[in-house]
Amino acid sequence: MEGYLDNSATTRCTEGVRDAVVRAMTEDYGNPSSQHRKGVEAERVLRTARETLAATLKVSEKEIYFTSGATESNNWAIIGAAMANRRAGTHLITTAIEHAAVLEPMAYLEKQGFRVTYLPVDAKGHISLEDLEEALCEETILVSIMYVNNEIGTIEPIAEAGKLIKARNPRTLFHVDAVQAYGKLEIRPKKLGVDMLSVSAHKIHGPKGVGFLYVNEKTKLQPMMLGGGQQKGMRSGTDNVPGAAGLAEAAREAYAQLEQSTEHLLQLKKRMMDGLKTLSDELSKNGAEPVKRGETAGKPDAQKPRIVIHSEEGDKSAPHIVSAAFPGVRSEVLLHALEERGIFVSAGSACTTNKKVPVSGVLKELHLPKELAESTLRFSFSRFTTEEEIDYCLEALRELLPVLMRYARH
Ligand code: PLP
Repeated sequence: MEGYLDNSATTRCTEGVRDAVVRAMTEDYGNPSSQHRKGVEAERVLRTARETLAATLKVSEKEIYFTSGATESNNWAIIGAAMANRRAGTHLITTAIEHAAVLEPMAYLEKQGFRVTYLPVDAKGHISLEDLEEALCEETILVSIMYVNNEIGTIEPIAEAGKLIKARNPRTLFHVDAVQAYGKLEIRPKKLGVDMLSVSAHKIHGPKGVGFLYVNEKTKLQPMMLGGGQQKGMRSGTDNVPGAAGLAEAAREAYAQLEQSTEHLLQLKKRMMDGLKTLSDELSKNGAEPVKRGETAGKPDAQKPRIVIHSEEGDKSAPHIVSAAFPGVRSEVLLHALEERGIFVSAGSACTTNKKVPVSGVLKELHLPKELAESTLRFSFSRFTTEEEIDYCLEALRELLPVLMRYARH
């Protein structure tokens, strides 16, 4: 048996997505910029894809721009908006727990003379609206806040933030990295006061290397990719027709069954969290105290939980992510022990692991003790995840943890 519980890192394409991609590659393979029939057919595929995506957000298809994924969408939204609006001000606001695809462009802009405020978060990863209000000033041209945190699943107060930003200055732009929210939550940028929104296909059972940026018609944005003038001159480069077709099909499928999927994901999340709580109780009753290297083992301490769940229950947390710490066992050790049994999970965020950051930036911002930050795993689900996969993972943890915790003492 296998358990793929790393759906926030990436997902498996559906058959519908595969068929849409193959059709675009083998039948509608023309260049949308060509003037002959083959080009017109490919252009039609792009237009239909744009219409499908626009409908999921209730925006105009003129406001959808295809990109190579959310990294490009975020870079473009942030750098493009900052450059296009720098005469109006040079202050930017974001949060301390954004993905690197937001934090790195912000750091780049700081080097170009912009000032960036990084909003702190509470122990569960929520920003405070008071902090946002305090940070907003005449000079603020852009605020970028993620919808759902990719490591612990926290949902940020996007609607309230949008209201605040626009009340203070309607011209301050609001960008949202919605990678972990799109396809899981209903999103209405116009109602939320969101001017730009980044989406990635491979998180919603679409192909890798494609995504889109929603840009409100009135938003002043500088293009970053210069060349043949595709996509109204805003994003040059031969259009990725198969990618767009696959992305649109993935989005259509996700939103066609949003309610059932959400219900299913919530049940999986509850099953996982309940299972971890039971396991934690078992471990504190039966297990010996895991101690740090160099210390002698103390007496078992029933008060000390063996598993600490970071993700919240309820509507302020995404239905598909459970993050938990297993103190006494380093996350990569547990990750590989699970892998041996065919269970795939993440330690922190998969997208930044090649940076050799020992502890995730997000977990650091939550001010978790080092012991918890270094023993955290993320379990993430998709609408195709089964209860059997969750149970299989919990069973493996039940067997592995007492052994690994004991091992950690030596
Ligand atoms: N933003 C968030 C919140 C993510 O989780 C990810 C990927 O994990 C990205 C951006 C980057 O997306 P992409 O892989 O499409 O470049």
